[in-house]
Order: sequence, then structure tokens, then C-alpha cells
Amino acid sequence: MKLPQNSSEFNEYSYFVTPSDMIEFTYCRRYTYFMKVLNILQHEEKRYNVRKGREIHKIRESQNIQYIRKKIPMVSKEINVNLISEKYKIRGIIDEILTMNDNTLSPLDYKFTNYNSKTYKTHKIQSTMYSLMIEDLYNKPVNYGYIIYCKDKNVLKEIKISEKLRTETLESINSYMEVLKGKYPEATKYERRCLDCCYKNICPR
Ligand code: SF4
Repeated sequence: MKLPQNSSEFNEYSYFVTPSDMIEFTYCRRYTYFMKVLNILQHEEKRYNVRKGREIHKIRESQNIQYIRKKIPMVSKEINVNLISEKYKIRGIIDEILTMNDNTLSPLDYKFTNYNSKTYKTHKIQSTMYSLMIEDLYNKPVNYGYIIYCKDKNVLKEIKISEKLRTETLESINSYMEVLKGKYPEATKYERRCLDCCYKNICPR
């Protein structure tokens, strides 16, 4: 594996995007502006999903999901892998990196949510971000990403890491970087999202 560069200019908030950052950015770009550009901290302890995300590892330990994993054509795995890709400006911890039986690699991600009959775009973009990092740092192809939706029934979903998905993901990362450089973004067009937003008292939408 190619080691990430140790740059003295490394700034975890300004120059790299994590898959979690991208979920918030997709939810509302202005939210990212308040948090990352103006450095106004969110009150994340009040947010249900964040709390649940932190509990996920305890849940994984207590649930037997081995029978689901047998559906994946893999030969080995690395767990909790911390990666930084200078090339794509992505960083993050991947729950598992799987070596597949065709010698390609795949990210596996656990979500504390129900499956709800479709794989959300944000989850596809997250899986693609993991895939780009793996391809960059391990120099091996990634054809599929996997998600296990832990709540209720441990549903396993396979995501084809297509060229279209790669292009969309890289475009989103570019847009994220423009906001970090100071571009003031539009408010989300879904006003319902503002009801539960920790920035609603300061956001002039
Ligand atoms: S109040 Fe609405 S528009 Fe403003 S940051 Fe929050 S979600 Fe975005």
C-alpha cells in the first residue's frame, strides 16, 4: 500500500473531505459553510443520528452477522483502516477493506439505519469515496462497494462503482472544496431540513 504523505501543510478541516462531511454537504451546502468556513461548531450531541452512529460499533459486536458476509465473494479483510488520499483530497476510516476472490478490493461500510427499499445516493457517494481512496493507496481496482444496514435485519447491499458514480463523486468533492475556499453556497431547497438544523437561528435563508 502506498503510504499517505506526511505534509506539514496538512489541515484536517480545510483540505480533506471525509465521507461524513459529504453527507452533510449533500444535505445542505450552507451547513458546511457555517461549520467549516466560519468554524461555528454544531451541537452534534443533540443529533439523534450522530449519537446512533457512535453506538454502531457496540451493536456490531453484539450481533451475529457472519451469515450475511458469506454472500460476499471475499477471501480476507482489514478492519478500521484509516486512509488519506492526497490525490483525491479524501480522508476517512473504512470499516473494512475486503480482498475479493478476483484479487480486486472492496470497501464494506456498516450503517445504523433501516434499508427502506433503496440505497441512498449519499451512501453510494460514500462508498465511491472509499473506493477512490483504496484505488489510490493500494493501487488495485475496486469494482463494488458493500453496505450492511444494521438496524433490524442486517440487509446487505452491493454497489457497482461505475464511471458515472466516480465522476459525480469527484464533482461533489470539487464543489465542497470551492465552499471551503469561501464560496457562499445556496441554502438547501428543502425547507423542511431547516427545522432540525443547528444553524437555523443564524442562517439567513
Ligand atoms: S437553516 Fe437550512 S439552509 Fe440554513 S444551514 Fe440549516 S439546513 Fe441549510
